[in-house]
Amino acid sequence: MTSGSPPGSPPSQGSQRKRGSTKDSVGLYAVQCNVCYKWRMIPTKEEFETLREKFTEDPWFCSRRPDCSCDDPADIEYDSSRIWVIDKPNIPKPPPETERLVIMRRDFTKMDTYYVMPNGKRARCAGDVDKFLEANPEYKNRISVSDFNFAPPKVVEETVSHNSAWKAAKAKKQDKADASSAQK
Ligand SMILES: [Zn+2]
Repeated sequence: MTSGSPPGSPPSQGSQRKRGSTKDSVGLYAVQCNVCYKWRMIPTKEEFETLREKFTEDPWFCSRRPDCSCDDPADIEYDSSRIWVIDKPNIPKPPPETERLVIMRRDFTKMDTYYVMPNGKRARCAGDVDKFLEANPEYKNRISVSDFNFAPPKVVEETVSHNSAWKAAKAKKQDKADASSAQK
């Protein structure tokens, strides 16, 4: 690990969730200590979003947590026992009444970011936020397009290719391909 890595957010089996669910694909959150480079788990998405917002100017280190020091073993190892995705630092916290979701694609190649807006609709790009504000001008003093950042976390490919859920999905795809070619 290099120093100054952005916070990572390793998802669990989140990609198995139902369509239309408003839960995102990330199962747990972790940050890397800027001193010892160990990974520490962050209990909630909200806390993670708070840390991520200022991660460059205010990096995380173990002693920020009560009863934790760099001498303690890591909470979690960065390995292929789960799929890891690495977030960009300094993404603004989602504006009030909105939620930022990151969803893993079915084939695990990448993630998509969107926001659930106060009216329950999804915004997938800055243009959608503009449209929302045009339609709901009462939010203009609370929500600004600059509060939105659609940069998705980067999927760590090596951790995908070792993951059983991915292998199963790939095998299923292969079965389908075999079945359709057999019909010809
Ligand atoms: Zn540390």
